[in-house]
Amino acid sequence: MRYSQFMLPTLKEDPAEAEVISHKLMYRAGMIRKLAAGIYSYLPLGLRVIQKVERIIREEMNRAGAQEVLLPCIQPAELWMETQRWEEYGKDLLRMKDRHDRDCCFGPTHEEVITDIARREIRSYRQMPLNLYQIQTKFRDEIRPRFGLMRGREFIMKDAYSFDADEAGLEKSYQEMYKAYRRIFTRCGFTFKVVEAETGLIGGTASHEFMVLAQTGEETIVSCQSCDYAANIQKAEAKRTRPRAKGPGKTPNPLKKVETPDMKTVADVTKFLKVRPRDLVKTLIFETDQGVAAALIRGDREINQTKLGTHLGCEDVKLASDDVVLGATGASKGFAGPVGLSVKIIADYSIEPMVDFVTGANEQDAHYINVNLGRDVKVDQFADLQMVREGDLCPRCGKSLSFFRGIEVGHIFKLGTKYSKALKATYLDENGREREIVMGCYGIGVGRTAAAAIEQYHDEDGIIWPMPIAPFQAIVVPVNNKIAALMKTAEGIYRLLSSNGVEVLLDDRDSTPGVKFKDADLIGIPLRLTIGEKNLKKGLVEIRRRKNGETTLIEKDKVTETVSALIHEEMEASLQG
Ligand SMILES: [Zn+2]
Repeated sequence: MRYSQFMLPTLKEDPAEAEVISHKLMYRAGMIRKLAAGIYSYLPLGLRVIQKVERIIREEMNRAGAQEVLLPCIQPAELWMETQRWEEYGKDLLRMKDRHDRDCCFGPTHEEVITDIARREIRSYRQMPLNLYQIQTKFRDEIRPRFGLMRGREFIMKDAYSFDADEAGLEKSYQEMYKAYRRIFTRCGFTFKVVEAETGLIGGTASHEFMVLAQTGEETIVSCQSCDYAANIQKAEAKRTRPRAKGPGKTPNPLKKVETPDMKTVADVTKFLKVRPRDLVKTLIFETDQGVAAALIRGDREINQTKLGTHLGCEDVKLASDDVVLGATGASKGFAGPVGLSVKIIADYSIEPMVDFVTGANEQDAHYINVNLGRDVKVDQFADLQMVREGDLCPRCGKSLSFFRGIEVGHIFKLGTKYSKALKATYLDENGREREIVMGCYGIGVGRTAAAAIEQYHDEDGIIWPMPIAPFQAIVVPVNNKIAALMKTAEGIYRLLSSNGVEVLLDDRDSTPGVKFKDADLIGIPLRLTIGEKNLKKGLVEIRRRKNGETTLIEKDKVTETVSALIHEEMEASLQG
């Protein structure tokens, strides 16, 4: 490809609205342009990267035995009503009416459509296992689209759905996808972690997220330093440690109310009462779709609301408003306590061994001291509710846990029979008995994967594409277009590399070397071949590697073999992770 004929509108300035590095660089490198909030056009350079990611995905999905289909973007409301999701999905679902006034939506996901196919086509256990996938444009009407391709409203996604006769079959299909995903992200050149994720209300037994590690990642990943335990922060558990109780055999002291004027925070109260934060029990009041509930946790720890929601089986859990706290406890926030509280009380395991602790007294400017479980507090349930902290101990091996930042690029899910039940997708087993199909679903954000690569690989000059998904593998830069010999050599090298299967861009623009070098760095091409007058007189060409700035001089007639060897080396390196 010749730069002069290629639509590659690079920019010097970051777009004002771009908050994350991948959004800035995709814009500046002329990969994408915005049409409307969260809706982007892919320009030629951007599309080349997308297509490379898609190719890797297709190869690995096919290799894992999945078959490609293409489902419609527009879906009828009736299907979504069968699974109740027409109501449940809320405003994220882009709804519309056709000319006959029939409701439909632009699919944010395809469980309904694929299960409809399954219920019509799958009759017998002999037709399974079956895994169908597509690479498709989806639409999710995010309230606040941001971060460019990271959180757009319209996005390209690979989604796959497996159909099995039973749980054992699903387990096998799931493991196949797990392995395929590992290969996909390895082949893209990523440093990534596979983490256990929350299955939430969708239920099922397992869910894993594939996280690309990047400082700028939105998600916190918890990972053991010594074993392979890794989990999303929302799901992560720590080994339960028993805090030292006050001396063995000590009888609890009598409950006592003390004045704590205007002491609303753990820090204020513990300082005032001369105790440690871990000697206090925080009482947090939550509003849930099952009513008001109180969660108890040790004063030095934080509640993980996702865990609380999962434990309660509630989709919607939020900290109660001042009015609700007042109504439930009789006091303002900061003075809530479990003694005499009439709402449901769920306590984190961390308070189980505590004796003579401090809590709010459900009364303005007052706390209790010497509170004890059983005698003073009736806990309805104990559960793991705490947010894991860096340095907590691994639930598997007991060694220290570390935190990483990551970007979710893939998610695999055991769905079970949620959709086959709702849509009555059944088959006949070997005894002629009708049973529900057991499903799994498996997603990869394609645009997000490209964006994540930029988040992981960039520097102050621009993108540093890993070789396997680079839009071009090499760029040939003649430093001065006016010198015929330089141009002739550059043309020759360009043609030679192209005919040898190298994806090469020739910067034939009549620009200064500075401009050409800047653009080459910005768009992140892994290998830059510079054709300069001084070197050429000695029959030499300079090769510079984008990833480390390393330059070497090679003989002009060794260009093809050197470039091929470097491409091969970088492809292999990405495979080794
Ligand atoms: Zn461990």
